[in-house]
Amino acid sequence: VERAACPACADPAADPVGRKDGHELRRCRGCRSLFVGTVPGAGAGEDYEAYYDEGNLEVPAFVHRRLDELVAALAPYRRENRWLDVGCGAGALVEAAARAGWRAQGTEIAPRPVARLRERGFDVLAGDVLELPLPEGAYDVVTLVEVLEHVPEPRALLARIAALLRPGGVLHLTTPHARGASARALGAGWSIVSPPEHLQLFSLPGLRAAVRDAGLVEVEAHAEGVNPYELLRAARGRGRVRPDDRVETSYRLNESLHRRRAGVVAKRAANALLDRTRLGDSLKCRAIRPAG
Ligand SMILES: [Zn+2]
Repeated sequence: VERAACPACADPAADPVGRKDGHELRRCRGCRSLFVGTVPGAGAGEDYEAYYDEGNLEVPAFVHRRLDELVAALAPYRRENRWLDVGCGAGALVEAAARAGWRAQGTEIAPRPVARLRERGFDVLAGDVLELPLPEGAYDVVTLVEVLEHVPEPRALLARIAALLRPGGVLHLTTPHARGASARALGAGWSIVSPPEHLQLFSLPGLRAAVRDAGLVEVEAHAEGVNPYELLRAARGRGRVRPDDRVETSYRLNESLHRRRAGVVAKRAANALLDRTRLGDSLKCRAIRPAG
């Protein structure tokens, strides 16, 4: 399907900026988001079965700790006690919310993690959240962690999430940043520019526009974090990082940085700097459905 407009801000004007792995890339003239010009048809896109191999379903211990912190941070929104994690993957966030006493649900397109989570007693629905029969106006919290970049219709997804939230409920989302340090330094060579696995990378103004157009009110939105491994690797002329290396090196880097106190301090300093310059590689946003 040829894209008529920016998947972030809906601006119809975009410029071709090259190709990657056979896919034409465009940059929105309005918000500077990066996206594929043509979305592959059903079945031609991401190979979900291959993505969730056994390795990807194992979650390191430090990830569980970070997710517990995220769940705790969203506790002020708890009223109906309902949490929905869209695109829950291996289900670590559904698990963390359930651990904290939430009535937690997940949705996931890939069949393998859904089967595994159901076997373990978690309430996970298989399929696309645009089509699943979920209760509207019901959820205190909807989380969308590293999902927006994968979906063919991100604006429709955000509108659906806005309808699922109760008035005053919150959306928490993260997605890779089209205008961060790695995107700027590596261009289409950045491993995160990976069509058709990733169909778009949002800029901060693009994300803000998409959230606002969905009828949500932004509480916070910023860029943070950087994966220095890939920048260093490129600087040394070692070329491209494979996608599975990417997941593993991010995990390893984060784990070692969190383990060493000096690393924590260095990472905080780097994040503070990146916040100011808006060059972080990841976008984070929280937005609420207004009451009434
Ligand atoms: Zn745009």
